Amino acid sequence: MIIAIDGPAASGKGTIARKLAERLGLPHLDTGLLYRATARALIDHGRGLGDRDAAVSAARGLALADFNEAALRSREMSEAASIVAAIPEVRAALVELQRRFARRPEGALLDGRDIGTAICPDADCKIFVTASAETRATRRALELRSRGEKVDYGAVLEDIRRRDERDSSRAAAPLRAAGDAMVLDTTKLDVEAAFEAALAIVEAATRRRARAAL
Ligand code: C5P
Repeated sequence: MIIAIDGPAASGKGTIARKLAERLGLPHLDTGLLYRATARALIDHGRGLGDRDAAVSAARGLALADFNEAALRSREMSEAASIVAAIPEVRAALVELQRRFARRPEGALLDGRDIGTAICPDADCKIFVTASAETRATRRALELRSRGEKVDYGAVLEDIRRRDERDSSRAAAPLRAAGDAMVLDTTKLDVEAAFEAALAIVEAATRRRARAAL
């Protein structure tokens, strides 16, 4: 079974994806890390975030096992990732790696912005997780503070709005819900309620799949 979970920054999709993958015993790929690691490699090599050739070679050279997640989750890397993610050649360079992950025999769960629309359009279950920008900024500010970053709520809200705008308006695989995705609004849900709602969507998709196989 392939499960695609998409949504904007801090919508809760990452937490839902991790918990679902654990419950269902599926391998999980957080595809945001691919764009974050590409941006990190450019910065480390002193290249500009708009340097297409360098960005494409950085994307091609990624090794999933090497990700230092803590270093990739900063506010600075969120912004940098969304800049490199708007480069069509960078996205193209990362398609096969993601599809290969999705084709694992035991199934897979991928989360990102374009999994249901571009990477796995035939996924068995698609969930688009969303929440108000204010709720997302509150969650993100708490998360960054818990990791020791000094952040101000207003600045985080501004970051989120800017990233939403860039991710939704880019020409290559913009952020949007696939036509056949179930939309899950987590604005008023805590982690447990959001996870239960997502699990119910997956279970319904599993039943549909079983009926179709009869
Ligand atoms: O999900 P996360 O916040 O880690 O993603 C960081 C950035 O990477 C996003 O703002 C988006 O620009 C980009 N991204 C993307 N497509 C994906 C996953 C992430 O464009 N599938």
